[in-house]
Amino acid sequence: MKIYDVIIVGGGAAGFFAAINIAEFNPKLKVAILERGKEGLQKVKISGGGRCNVTHAEFIPSELVLNYPRGEKELLGPFHQFMTGDTIQWFEDRGVELKIEEDGRMFPITDSSQTIIDCFLNEAQKFDVDILYNHALKSIKHLETKWNLETSQGDFSTNKLMMATGSNPKIWKLLEDLGHTISQPVPSLFTFDIKDERIKDIPGVVALNVEVKVVDTDLWSEGPLLITHVGMSAPAILKLSAFGAIELAKRNYDFEIEVNFIKQSYDDCIEQLKNLKQDLAKKTVLKSAQFELPKRLWQKLVLASQITNETRWADLNKSQLEELASQLTQAVFHVIGKSTFKEEFVTAGGVNLKEVNFKTFESRLHENLYFAGEILNIDAITGGFNFQNAWSGAYIAALEMSKENAQH
Ligand SMILES: Cc1cc2nc3c(=O)[nH]c(=O)nc-3n(C[C@H](O)[C@H](O)[C@H](O)COP(=O)(O)OP(=O)(O)OC[C@H]3O[C@@H](n4cnc5c(N)ncnc54)[C@H](O)[C@@H]3O)c2cc1C
Repeated sequence: MKIYDVIIVGGGAAGFFAAINIAEFNPKLKVAILERGKEGLQKVKISGGGRCNVTHAEFIPSELVLNYPRGEKELLGPFHQFMTGDTIQWFEDRGVELKIEEDGRMFPITDSSQTIIDCFLNEAQKFDVDILYNHALKSIKHLETKWNLETSQGDFSTNKLMMATGSNPKIWKLLEDLGHTISQPVPSLFTFDIKDERIKDIPGVVALNVEVKVVDTDLWSEGPLLITHVGMSAPAILKLSAFGAIELAKRNYDFEIEVNFIKQSYDDCIEQLKNLKQDLAKKTVLKSAQFELPKRLWQKLVLASQITNETRWADLNKSQLEELASQLTQAVFHVIGKSTFKEEFVTAGGVNLKEVNFKTFESRLHENLYFAGEILNIDAITGGFNFQNAWSGAYIAALEMSKENAQH
């Protein structure tokens, strides 16, 4: 039996961040990470297309939490303690400079996730964290004041235990056996599969500012929309997939969306089309894209409105005008499934947030059991927010976990 003061199960983003901070806050503690893989930080490596979108340039806690479909309420307190600005400072203090991109996403200036991995490995070594690879956790037992862990390579005992295993159903099962409840895991951050003539053969086309609603629900979002080979993607869709993760799973990813491509009301659109009918009378409708829409999308929507290739603005009849306004402002598409978003995907679901004390990230059911990262029922939209959850939780838990004196 190997004995440690602190064991962190899971050598991912949250696990490394917690271990390094604990060991730095209290160098007397013997700290280990148990990682099932032959390497750790695999998601960090592939994150952000290999660039690692570390955090987001949003510095107001009450605004930052709005990016978390699950965890909004619970993260407000923690973000007052450790959030984006602290993350930037933490990395800067360790020689890693981050940069802000136009959309607010933050990356290391090297544009390489390896910079983050190297930083973590160096810090872990500097503070004597034992990183035990190929150690998969099999069972957890709570015996008086100790946590006993069975792994694929022997048994361990520790005073304080952090679970940072991400979205692993086997670990959630072990936690259920300890009395925790697990909110049903479902995918979040996915793109919509749509087969429809209006978006066929125009992959890569982007409408910059659309509004999308899921028909018969309160779900809606806005932002850029990208037409792909199989359907629709980009923030307007990804936000819906995150905020609607549970509802859309219930519908088995078979539902309708209503897209307003120009973010104007139907009535305003009709008025504008009537003006265009006069102003552009002799021009063909198909060739005169309006509302700053990409040409190829405009053409698809025009053809879907029973307007032919040659029709001139002056010749548009009432029903064609109405149909065009309808296609522009309330086009209904049938979503028939989902696809993985290439840069980032997360799982909604995990340890029930009511069972966690968010002042310390300690379990409310068991003393000296802590959680951080995706193991919790917290997830965010794309943009660096998922990592920020891992950093904040891990840091705050580390403050608490490092308090105790070493037993050696
Ligand atoms: C392709 C991709 C790209 C992403 N890009 C971004 C991005 O740019 N920005 C962002 O904010 N978020 C991004 N995310 C989401 C982000 O990666 C996760 O939210 C984050 O990694 C969660 O950290 P974690 O430490 O909780 O879990 P993980 O990083 O998943 O780490 C969990 C660790 O626990 C280990 N483990 C699991 N079970 C056991 C066991 N039984 N015993 C021992 N060890 C175990 C795993 O091997 C793993 O190393 C991306 C996700 C994906 C899939």
